Amino acid sequence: MSELRDLYQEVILDHNRRPRNFGALEGAREAVGYNPLCGDRVTVYVRVEADTIGDIAFTGSGCAISKASASLMTDAVRGMATSDVHTLFAAFQDAVTGRREVPDDELGKLAVLTGVREFPSRVKCATLAWHALEDALARE
Ligand code: ZN
Repeated sequence: MSELRDLYQEVILDHNRRPRNFGALEGAREAVGYNPLCGDRVTVYVRVEADTIGDIAFTGSGCAISKASASLMTDAVRGMATSDVHTLFAAFQDAVTGRREVPDDELGKLAVLTGVREFPSRVKCATLAWHALEDALARE
């Protein structure tokens, strides 16, 4: 278990150091998320094509958890139907709050973040980019 934990930690640190899909997308829908508890700030840019995530990127600054979560999220939802994005976010929220035991295969790589359920103050860090994505998707 602790080896798995170390591996998860490695993935988070890697995404924090080298965030994927980092940068602005011009002409895309965008929404900003701010977590005053930690000072995390993220802007999510998303292009929707035929109810599918055509392109997605983010900018911002914050703690390792918030940055890694945004990076992992953009990788996870690219090419996904928007309805599946809502389902995945619900599962992710259940997992990081500990509301429900979510099998790792439902979450894919996002499972590396489920350790935050032991640190309730970090749940907002892990879900910040997701809330911004939901806001951006709600914007037509
Ligand atoms: Zn944070």
